[in-house]
Amino acid sequence: MLGDIMYQMQLEVKNQEQTKSVGQKLGSTLSGGEVIELIGDVGAGKTTFVKGLAVGLGIDEDVQSPSFTISRVYDTRGGLTLAHYDFYRLSDAGIMRDELSEAISDPTTVTVIEWADIVEGVLPADRITIKFEATSEDERTLTINGAGGVL
Ligand code: ADP
Ligand code: MG
Repeated sequence: MLGDIMYQMQLEVKNQEQTKSVGQKLGSTLSGGEVIELIGDVGAGKTTFVKGLAVGLGIDEDVQSPSFTISRVYDTRGGLTLAHYDFYRLSDAGIMRDELSEAISDPTTVTVIEWADIVEGVLPADRITIKFEATSEDERTLTINGAGGVL
């Protein structure tokens, strides 16, 4: 019965450093196999969040937006992979759908997706979703579902 209860939390962040900090904290709890969907307008802070997530996962490289390349992949110091997707520019996922499915089913990969609407059918129900809403130029409300109590 308790399994039906959704754990949702809302965080108010005041600047991009705090957005990165939340990402870093979540990243430090991940062990591979997680799927994270990031929802929000252009400039809401999704990619900024992934920069922090990567630090928490133990990635030395700087995360760059995958909006032109669709996907970018990074290795962690601990032997995991971060697969970061952005489907904003695609009207049809095509073969990217297969690449995404592979990432999702790999237990050593953490998969993060921006603009996941066109691949909705591929995403597992037990993913983490984070919604980003700008409340001022530098403030954001983050609404997090599926992360349990880790934040
Ligand atoms: P998205 O991936 O959602 O399109 P980005 O992370 O690429 O957004 O860009 C967010 C922009 O907003 C950056 O220029 C960043 O400096 C700015 N920004 C201002 N305040 C915040 C905040 N609290 N969190 C994240 N980004 C912020
Ligand atoms: Mg982005």
